[in-house]
Amino acid sequence: MNTIEMDNFSYEMSHFVMDNMKSHTDLRQVIYLLLEKVAHKFNLNHVMIMENKTELGCFRVLYEWNKDKTISSLNHIISYTEHFNIFFMEKMSMGEIITYKDYIDRPTYINIETVLTKNNCNSVISLPYITQDHKSGLIIFESIKENYNFTEEEIQSLYHLRNILINYFFVIRDYQDAKEKIEHISTYDSVTGLFNYETFVCKAEQIFKREPENTKYIIISVDIINFKYFNEYYGYDAGDEVLRLFNHSISLIFNKVFACRMFSDNFVILCKMEQGMTEQRISRAIDAFNKVFSNKVHETYKETKLEITAGVHIFCNTKSGIRKYIDNADKARKSAKLASKRSIIYNESMDYELKRNIMISNIAEDALLHNEFYFELQPKYNLKSKKITGAEALVRWRRPDGSMIYPNEFIPVYEQNEFILKLDFYIYAKVCEYLKKRIDQGESIIPISVNVSRVHLRYDDFVKRVIQLVDVYQIPHHLLEFEITESIFLENIKSARIALENLKNAGFLVSMDDFGAGYSSLNLLRKLEFDILKLDKDFINEGKLQKKDKIVIASIISMAKEMQITVLCEGVETNEQAALLEELECDLVQGYYFGRPMNLEQFDMLYQYIK
Ligand code: C2E
Ligand code: CA
Ligand code: CA
Repeated sequence: MNTIEMDNFSYEMSHFVMDNMKSHTDLRQVIYLLLEKVAHKFNLNHVMIMENKTELGCFRVLYEWNKDKTISSLNHIISYTEHFNIFFMEKMSMGEIITYKDYIDRPTYINIETVLTKNNCNSVISLPYITQDHKSGLIIFESIKENYNFTEEEIQSLYHLRNILINYFFVIRDYQDAKEKIEHISTYDSVTGLFNYETFVCKAEQIFKREPENTKYIIISVDIINFKYFNEYYGYDAGDEVLRLFNHSISLIFNKVFACRMFSDNFVILCKMEQGMTEQRISRAIDAFNKVFSNKVHETYKETKLEITAGVHIFCNTKSGIRKYIDNADKARKSAKLASKRSIIYNESMDYELKRNIMISNIAEDALLHNEFYFELQPKYNLKSKKITGAEALVRWRRPDGSMIYPNEFIPVYEQNEFILKLDFYIYAKVCEYLKKRIDQGESIIPISVNVSRVHLRYDDFVKRVIQLVDVYQIPHHLLEFEITESIFLENIKSARIALENLKNAGFLVSMDDFGAGYSSLNLLRKLEFDILKLDKDFINEGKLQKKDKIVIASIISMAKEMQITVLCEGVETNEQAALLEELECDLVQGYYFGRPMNLEQFDMLYQYIK
C-alpha cells in the first residue's frame, strides 16, 4: 500500500488530524470528526473501528460514526467464530479487504447484522489492519447507497485513510489510556480500589446536595490497631493484603455505603442513617465488622489478632461541609482508641478532651525533667497471714500548681506517643532507688510490683534494659515483680510470651494484671508460666456479687492454685468482699479496704505490719 501515491484527500486528512490533535483535549472527539469527514467525502452512513480480541473471539468497537448521529455504546462486542479469525488473519496478512460478499458467503462465521447499521445494507467494505505493537482490527466503511460497489480508486483512497487512521488513532489511544490511568489514580486508592479522600469528599458533597436537607447520615472513621507494627513485622505486601481484607469486610457488613482510605490504615465510611437505626445498632455493626475483619486476618496470620477502633459521627447535613464531619468522627475515633473501646459516638466534649490530650502530650518531657512524676505504693495483703506481703508502685503526676493528673488520663496518651517508654523506666529507676535505700539502711523489704505498658513489648530489648537498670542499683531480682496486662497477651502473644519468659529467667516475679477485664482466655493460664494472677477489680466491684460471679471467682482461684499460681484480687473495698475472698481462699488482696495508694513516708510506717 505504501507504494501508492497519496491523493489530495488523504493529504487533507493528515493535516486535519495534525491540526486537531494540537487543539483538542478530547481526543475521542478528534477521531469522531475524522470519521465524519471521511463519511461525508465518500457518502458513507457508518464508519467503525474495531479491535480484534483474538483470545475472546470477538471484535470490540472502539470508535464509531453514524449518519443519524445515534451514538451506539462504545466498547460493544461483536463475536465471531474461530474460522472467521483464520480467514481474517489471512486477509490481513495479504493486505486484502473483506467485502460484503465475503460476509454473506460465510454466514456462520460472524453475524453480519451486528456489524451493519441497516439490515438490508450491502455496500460495505472492511479493511483489516495491524499495528506496530501487533494489535489487529477492522475498519468498516458502509455506504449509503445500496448495492454500491466501491471503485478501485475509492478503495485505494480508503487504504490511505486506514493507514492515517491507524497511525494517529493509536497515538491517540495511548494518550487516552494514559489519561484514563491518571484519572483512575487520582480517583481511586491504588491499594484497596476504594475512592481516595478527595473523590470521597466530592461524591459526598454531591449526595448532600441531592438528598433532602433533613436526611441523617453516619460517618465512621476507622483504623486498625497496631497496624504499623504488623507492617514492620510481616512486611508491606502483607500490610497491603490486610488493607484489601479490610475493604472486603466493609462490603460484607455494611450495605449501601461508600468508603475511602484517607491514608495509611485510616478509612472513612459514609452511609445514610436508615429509619430504625440506633446508636446501639451502629456499634453492634462495628463490632460485627471488627469480628469479620479480625477473623479474616487471623486465617492467614495466625499469630496476630488485628482489630479496629472506630469513631462515629451522626449528623444532619447542615452547611458545615463533609470535612468537618469527618474531623468529628476522627475525634471520636481517637477517644475510642485512648479509652480502648471498639467504637465511640462523637459528642462536643471530645473537643475539650482532645485539646487536653494535646497539652498532656506537649508538656511530658518538661514534666519529667522537673520531677513532676513520682510513684505511690499500694499494699498487697495476705488474707491468711494477715500481713502485708508486697506493694504495687503506681505512677502519680503533680503539676507545679499542685493539681494532679491521674494515670487513666495520661497513660493512654503516653502509650500513643510512646513517651510511656521513658516514663516507665523512670518509675522503675525510682522504685529501685527506694529499695536500694532501704537495703543500704538495713531495713526490712517486701517485693514491689511495677506496671509494664504494652508499648514495651514492641521492642526486643525491653528485658535486657530492665536487667541493666536493676543491676545498676544491685537489687536482688526476686524483689521486683512485673505486672503485664492480660490483653497484651491477646494482642500479640509471641512477643509478650518472650518478655514473660525472659523476665522469669532473669529471676523476676511476673503477674498477669487485670485478668478478666476483657475477653479472657483461660487458655493463657495453661500456656504461660505466671507467678501471680491479678483478678480485675470489676470482678468484685460491679454491683452486688451474684451467685454466678462467686462460682466464677471460686473456680478461677481453684484452677490457678492447681497450677501453682498465686491469686490476688484487686479493688477490694468492703469487709464483705474481703470475707468472701477469704472464704474462697484467695491468697492476696489489694484495694481501698486494706490500703489506698500512699506516699513512701506513709508506706514506710506500715512496715510494722509486714511479715
Ligand atoms: P492497675 O494496674 O489496675 O492499677 C490499679 C488501679 O486501681 C490503680 O489506679 C489503683 O489506684 C486503683 N485501685 C486500687 N484499689 C482500688 C479499689 O479498691 N477500688 C478502686 N476503684 N480502685 C482501686 P491508678 O493508680 O489510677 O492507675 C490506673 C492504671 O494506670 C493502672 O491500673 C495501670 O494500668 C496504670 N498505671 C499506673 N501506674 C503505672 C505505671 O507506672 N506504668 C504504667 N505503664 N501504667 C501504670
Ligand atoms: Ca497493675
Ligand atoms: Ca490491675
